[in-house]
Amino acid sequence: MTSLFSVQGPIPLSAPSLRKSRQARVVWGDRVVTVGGGSMVRVQSMTNTDTVDVIGTAIQVKELAQAGSEFVRITVNTPEAAAAVPYIREQLDRMGENVPLVGDFHYNGHKLLTDFPACAEALSKYRINPGNVGKGEKRDRQFGQMIEAAMRWNKPVRIGVNWGSLDQELLAHLMDVNSRRSQPWDARQVMYEALISSAIDSALRAEEMGMDGNQIILSCKVSGVQDLIGVYRELARRCDYALHLGLTEAGMGTKGTVASTAALSILLQEGIGDTIRVSLTPQPGESRNQEVVVASEILQALGLRVFVPSVTACPGCGRTTSTTFQELAKQIDDFLRAQMPVWRVQYPGVEGLRVAVMGCIVNGPGESKHADIGISLPGIGEAPAAPVFIDGEKALTLRGENIAAEFRDIVEGYVARRFGGNAPTDAAAL
Ligand code: SF4
Repeated sequence: MTSLFSVQGPIPLSAPSLRKSRQARVVWGDRVVTVGGGSMVRVQSMTNTDTVDVIGTAIQVKELAQAGSEFVRITVNTPEAAAAVPYIREQLDRMGENVPLVGDFHYNGHKLLTDFPACAEALSKYRINPGNVGKGEKRDRQFGQMIEAAMRWNKPVRIGVNWGSLDQELLAHLMDVNSRRSQPWDARQVMYEALISSAIDSALRAEEMGMDGNQIILSCKVSGVQDLIGVYRELARRCDYALHLGLTEAGMGTKGTVASTAALSILLQEGIGDTIRVSLTPQPGESRNQEVVVASEILQALGLRVFVPSVTACPGCGRTTSTTFQELAKQIDDFLRAQMPVWRVQYPGVEGLRVAVMGCIVNGPGESKHADIGISLPGIGEAPAAPVFIDGEKALTLRGENIAAEFRDIVEGYVARRFGGNAPTDAAAL
């Protein structure tokens, strides 16, 4: 076999593609979160509190925002919920939390946005589901009322189609057309067409009414990974609206996380998706923030964003049967995440920090040297010592019972030295 080293050029670097899209602006006060048009891909989430519970909802919104959600959607389903929205906004403002709020409307959004102007004003974006705005002649009228409210209050909208609430009249029409084809399409292909047509036709109708096309974001959510990929590739091909990307009803725990990651990663790598939501069902007792953590990790793993310092840890094997290094890796990861709300302001650039926690001498020193700061714990049969590497050089060796606490102090000192001298960032410029 001949090495091709001398005749081949360099191996191309892998990077996500870019899709040209329009740019929407989601605004609250001084806070402007741009979506699409070359902005970084945004993370969003949704509360699961009763919106009427003003304090409970405001607290959850703040928690989601602190976890990294750049805007947060809340259900606006009843007059009582619509009446609560301005108070939720006020409570957030009092807490110093300026994350924009998005109102999720179905069935009665036209009425709520008309009857509760303070709600319409307090929200920074409206989600409209064209499958749930009414039937027959009411559909266009009620959809139009919501678009008029968006124009009156100068708010962007997401026209969010979902296969679970697809416009049944449109679907029936497309199935009818399909049945007359000499070679009918697969039923899923008809469904794809219905999703995409519903979203784009609704957007065009909004533009005909005078809505700025830049202020329209589209989504077509389905719960199957391959379906989502098929639908979004075609949606991205047919329009240049900014796209909200997410696998709907992804499920719980590992299944939901893996399915969302698989679907979103493929599309994001192709440049498709300007804002993402990971729709996880929380496990009993699990924090709602988990969906924000997963969304952020997807973007960070793809190299699209950097949110938190990364901890590289080996999986462990027969060379290290103690749980010491697993515990240390978790403690360090938890510690770094817990510090981030303060560090993000105090130490600009700290999110790019790379920490390694390794289980033995095989890959430990090598991986630790590649990190900014790393520790290689002793495997079975190795001397009970843990060398620490800083900026690629062995700096010291830790021994004894307090390795975890000492290593944490070393990391903290490193962060203060390396990132302490920079000026604070402007959160409003995110
Ligand atoms: S670094 Fe050592 S303990 Fe970790 S997986 Fe590799 S060989 Fe096993």
